[in-house]
Amino acid sequence: MTWLDDLRRSAAVAVGRSPDREGLAARCPQCGRDDTTVVHYLDRRHAEFWCVHCGAVVSTRDLASLRPAPAPAPPDPHAGVLAPAVLSWARSAAGRVPAELDRAAYLQLHSRFDRAGVLPGLPAVSAVIGKLHDHGYRIDPVLAELGCSTPAARERAVYARRWLAGPGRGHCWIVSRETADRPAVSGVESAAEAFLGGGEVSREQLGDLRAALFGTDGGPGARRLLGLFTAAEIEAAVTAYGEGLRPLRDAVLRELES
Ligand SMILES: [Zn+2]
Repeated sequence: MTWLDDLRRSAAVAVGRSPDREGLAARCPQCGRDDTTVVHYLDRRHAEFWCVHCGAVVSTRDLASLRPAPAPAPPDPHAGVLAPAVLSWARSAAGRVPAELDRAAYLQLHSRFDRAGVLPGLPAVSAVIGKLHDHGYRIDPVLAELGCSTPAARERAVYARRWLAGPGRGHCWIVSRETADRPAVSGVESAAEAFLGGGEVSREQLGDLRAALFGTDGGPGARRLLGLFTAAEIEAAVTAYGEGLRPLRDAVLRELES
């Protein structure tokens, strides 16, 4: 430590901002917890802390009562894919969260949560996932189609999409049905022209459009997928396909990963 660091430290301690306070905690005299306090003031003789659990604000001269703060709990590996209410219910009421949240485990956990009545009125997570696939992983049309606009329903859709982007990735058509097929540009152009003009479009042409613009040979049908985009976006995507690009596929992947 240089003399300058020493000086900075002394100055900080003099105004109650001792750097030691960050590593310290105390037992809360109001609620008795010893892992929920934050020391926000510490000089040579006096400390103040508050309790994030019960809100108590405590001032003390008993600096010996301060002890090293416990290490923070490691983040739950499922926190990214389970909404907070589902995660805390699973940890307490359900006993434990399965280590691997595959499709069956994810659906089963949510249906048990729904049956427990913790947050009534939510759409089944299986329905949410099905609609996410249909709508290219966009949240708003999923909620509109399910007729659910509550914040809890949106949260369920957001976390379901995160599960799809992570452990459930293999269930996503944009990933699992990727094809190496590259239909001829001229055929794709005439199929797009017919589709956008409302003319006759054969099954094969629809398959070509899906393979060209989304790079897939399965999942939702081409009409449904193209319906997610405007005519201008489709036209631009057909031009881009001629240049080796797939902006509609990229847009679906972006939604999945957003
Ligand atoms: Zn407390």
